[in-house]
Amino acid sequence: MEDAENCILCSSDHLKTILSHTFRRPGLPGSPAPGVVSTYVSDRLSFLFECLVAGSDETSFRVEECRECGMVFNNPRLTVEEMAEKYRYLSNTPRTQAAMHKPQPPGRGERADFIYGWIRDALRAEPRSLRILDYGGGDGLNLVPFARENDCLVVDYVEHPAPPGVRYVHGDVESMAGEAAFDVILLCHTLEHLAQPVELVRRLGSHLADEGLLYLEVPVGVFREWRKQAEPLTHINFFSEATVARCLNEAGLFPGRVSTDYRQGTSGRSWAISAIASREKPAGDHSLKCRGTRRQMVNPVYYIRPGLKKLRKMARRS
Ligand SMILES: [Zn+2]
Repeated sequence: MEDAENCILCSSDHLKTILSHTFRRPGLPGSPAPGVVSTYVSDRLSFLFECLVAGSDETSFRVEECRECGMVFNNPRLTVEEMAEKYRYLSNTPRTQAAMHKPQPPGRGERADFIYGWIRDALRAEPRSLRILDYGGGDGLNLVPFARENDCLVVDYVEHPAPPGVRYVHGDVESMAGEAAFDVILLCHTLEHLAQPVELVRRLGSHLADEGLLYLEVPVGVFREWRKQAEPLTHINFFSEATVARCLNEAGLFPGRVSTDYRQGTSGRSWAISAIASREKPAGDHSLKCRGTRRQMVNPVYYIRPGLKKLRKMARRS
């Protein structure tokens, strides 16, 4: 792992540590007992203590906030090689293997329809005869509404059975060398995991057709994810609307729409940021309004929607 001395988005050295998390090797006195943490968490802690800090029983990660652009991220960072090793290690755990053969979780159709709606609005037409990539798209379910009338591809580290009409390429951006340019690229819930998010967006941008669109989706990580981390290796970047827009700009793209919604994700509902960006600057007077990091960290509205959901559940039970 390496310490980032500069902001991972804007390269400013004006970083402030806003929190520190300490993790202990599983099985030590004082560590959570087996069964208390999920296998998801214990698999990641095992990788941390077996491969990244082998020989240590305890290690700490700082949460940094960039005073220039507002980006919030974990430090130290995994190198690109360690990140690839992490995916290799985790893709072979019994939990990952079992998860791949689970039936489609409820709500995934709703999620795919939401993305379809954003693309249709941005194109001002039904998406037809387009080349569409879901990068890191896992099971390919986001592409189901597009699959009948478009050429659809998933690129992912973990091999999944693809739904009808969706091609699958195992690997990462390196594996896309022979692919023609895409009209639409989806990048959903991926950037929060990556050591170098701007680099990936820049490279994906180079695979966009001239008038192509990138659809980006990340959790509102600055709301509360950064405060409470069961393990420090899954979500390592914590975005706000402003830092999503900054990330797109730094990668040479022009964000045209950014918004935050409480809606269906990979498992259940949560707050997420969506954005659309293009290679060409949109014509006309175009001012994009984005909520900043500090504003999204403390927005009380973000507690109300999940709270109402809990209340409704309790009312149904009683
Ligand atoms: Zn910054």
